[in-house]
Amino acid sequence: MGQRARRHVVRATGAKSNMKRSGFKNRGMPLTARTPVRKVSKKRAAHRASRAGKDEMAYMAAVKEHPCIVCRRMGPSDAHHCIHGRYGARKPSGYKTIPLCKWCHQDGPEAIHRGKRSWEEKHGPDYSYIEQTRAQLPPEILATIPEGE
Ligand SMILES: [Zn+2]
Ligand SMILES: [Zn+2]
Repeated sequence: MGQRARRHVVRATGAKSNMKRSGFKNRGMPLTARTPVRKVSKKRAAHRASRAGKDEMAYMAAVKEHPCIVCRRMGPSDAHHCIHGRYGARKPSGYKTIPLCKWCHQDGPEAIHRGKRSWEEKHGPDYSYIEQTRAQLPPEILATIPEGE
């Protein structure tokens, strides 16, 4: 879409439009009241700005530098948050991540996010790679791991 076309679309659906449209999903709700989509929650954003959050992100960045822990494909890898066993209940912290290539992570037919169970049958639980992941990380990164993580 060209510059001009995009500007036109913004004007047609933008915040200033109070046009009533029947059949529109948010009918009755003024468009001006809609808040923009926030990709990261406020809580998450605050955590990221904190010292603890910065350490956690540095940890994940270090994880990503390593080759895929499953197929050894060269990094940068994705930092996959473990999902097997008790880690499946809710998203664990960044300290429970392992390096996976895009293929083993999301893109391949046998990627962990396409078949959690079959991946586990083939490779074992993802959390069993946490120790191996940490063995590759520099001491200054390991020193930031909070107690209990
Ligand atoms: Zn891989
Ligand atoms: Zn993942």
